[in-house]
Amino acid sequence: MKILNKFEFLAEAGPPLHQDRDFSLYDGAPYSCACGSTHNFRQFGKFQLYPSHGTNAKFMVQCPDNDTVVTLIETKNKFLMFFDRFISLAGCVDA
Ligand SMILES: [Zn+2]
Repeated sequence: MKILNKFEFLAEAGPPLHQDRDFSLYDGAPYSCACGSTHNFRQFGKFQLYPSHGTNAKFMVQCPDNDTVVTLIETKNKFLMFFDRFISLAGCVDA
């Protein structure tokens, strides 16, 4: 995961999507946070959806332990259809 400043991080994320989707599929899946810990994704937690390629979904998630830390994560699928795990693309520790 690369650690970016706020400006670079927002450029990397791109424009946010405003979609009501069901994210329960990803609930509880672990991801590595820019704070150095591993957290579990929570569908009702603090996150925002971003455009991604194909069937993947990209999220910006706020660290549950530190409000100034955000991580950009992307879903990785198995067999193109089944959610496998999260990949951490970038982090920002001073959001
Ligand atoms: Zn964290």
